[in-house]
Amino acid sequence: MTLAAALGVSLRSFNSASSFPFIHCSALFTRQITMDAKSVASQLKSSGLLRTQGLIGGKWTDAYDGKTIEVRNPATGEVIADVSCMGQKETNDAISSAYNAYNSWSKLTATERSKSLRKWYDLLVAHKEELGQLITLEQGKPLKEALGEISYGAGFLEFFSEEAKRIYGDIIPPALADRRLFVLKQPVGVVGAITPWNFPLAMITRKVGPALACGCTVVIKPSELTPLTALAAAELSLQAGIPPGVVNVVMGNAPDIGNALLASPQVRKITFTGSTAVGKKLMAGAAGTVKKVSLELGGNAPCIVFDDADVDVAVKGALAAKFRNTGQTCVCANRILVQEGIYEKFANAFSKAVQNLQVGDGFSDGVAQGPLINEAAVQKVESFIQDATSKGAKVILGGRRHSLGMTFYEPTVISDVNNDMLISREEVFGPVAPLLRFKTEEDAIRIANDTTAGLAAYIFTNNIQRSWRVSEALEYGLVGVNEGLISTEVAPFGGVKQSGLGREGSKYGMDEYLEIKYVCLGNMNSS
Ligand code: NAP
Repeated sequence: MTLAAALGVSLRSFNSASSFPFIHCSALFTRQITMDAKSVASQLKSSGLLRTQGLIGGKWTDAYDGKTIEVRNPATGEVIADVSCMGQKETNDAISSAYNAYNSWSKLTATERSKSLRKWYDLLVAHKEELGQLITLEQGKPLKEALGEISYGAGFLEFFSEEAKRIYGDIIPPALADRRLFVLKQPVGVVGAITPWNFPLAMITRKVGPALACGCTVVIKPSELTPLTALAAAELSLQAGIPPGVVNVVMGNAPDIGNALLASPQVRKITFTGSTAVGKKLMAGAAGTVKKVSLELGGNAPCIVFDDADVDVAVKGALAAKFRNTGQTCVCANRILVQEGIYEKFANAFSKAVQNLQVGDGFSDGVAQGPLINEAAVQKVESFIQDATSKGAKVILGGRRHSLGMTFYEPTVISDVNNDMLISREEVFGPVAPLLRFKTEEDAIRIANDTTAGLAAYIFTNNIQRSWRVSEALEYGLVGVNEGLISTEVAPFGGVKQSGLGREGSKYGMDEYLEIKYVCLGNMNSS
């Protein structure tokens, strides 16, 4: 279906009851749809932000064979747009454009690059409403969360526009009297940036912000599920005056695009956010041309609630850590470990809070939980719950598809989970909170670390010594203490073990796009 046809389709009004198997729920899911796809898209069209072609060398470009792919609204299944389905040829041209643009972009002063990035940031902020609506339309998250992502995502451009001016080198005291030793930091070169669907803007700006600040140029490959936000952001990069070829976007056949980026000797760096399985493939593929690689991969976050925690703080924190983006973030609490003395109290209070989460179309007032991204995601959740219950876990809230249909799933709490169940071993990526009981601090640390992942962890305790001790013992890249939402552009984000390599955000995020060059001036004592 074409965009025009899709725009003619109005969104459904949800009005259905839901019953939970073990906790009585009297709430009816009656929601007023406050915005429709048609008005969102027409607004975006008038501001020139609804782009459906790839961006190569500053030109909006169709796939060379004319192929397109459909982008759907996960809340309704409606086609929002048909976007160009690109592959190897288009990617090679995008790489050439980025390579040509690198010459001049990398030679601009830091102040000039900084100003362009700042302008791009200003435009993202100026178009916050439309961009937020676009995210809700193609990704499904509640509009409030989508608007939050625009602020968060734009924040990376603001932060790195400032960092552009602070790429300092070093002067090293020489070992020989007639020498002077310098360290210069220089841009890596052309960067291939491959990003996922769960944060359609922020996962791009977190990479492209520092890359451009350092003087690199980029070829972005957004997920085929959410390319529209990436294309709108790219349009704003042009409006900000960032020269053609500095930012390129191709989408379509992921393996073809990935392989073209990997094979090209002109691409000097691959930065990827996505699943561990694809990250491993990219890491292996980058070996052929020995590229620099950054990987932000899957997590399996433990959220540990100790007996001495403030239950209200723990419930609020665990709720935010688990159910943000309907459980579809890499830092989502995947296992909630609760000490035995507080287990029943926490389970009751937490389940009550989860029960109050409103499910529905992200454009509806008060909705806290949108749809899952696609049918495969729902089936994965179902298989994990089936595995857990077959091994003794109990569903205490939710546990089934939502009566709204589509890919809506009831916010779910499962008790009596252990660390051997699939739900504890794998990343759930859905609105399901498994509760695990533990006895001692040592048990909690052992269970928490018993995974190949190591991205985010959360602990809830009022004991300051314990908070330090456990933070140090956790094999994770990020730790939230008495806080469930910890991502920010000013702090380093990244994992250990199989959760990835490198850091994004903060001053450390710059290092990923810089090479260190040592310069030795000899014969300095001659006149
Ligand atoms: P995914 O399947 O790995 O896809 C991520 C990106 O890789 C998409 O653009 C995808 O393209 C592309 N891709 C897939 N196969 C490829 C290949 N052979 N070569 C090159 N590119 C390829 O992951 P996802 O399902 O979109 O995202 C969810 C995962 O991302 C979760 O595991 C989550 O934990 C992780 N994540 C991690 C972080 C972090 O910072 N650590 C942040 C967010 C998400 P198509 O979509 O077009 O197929």
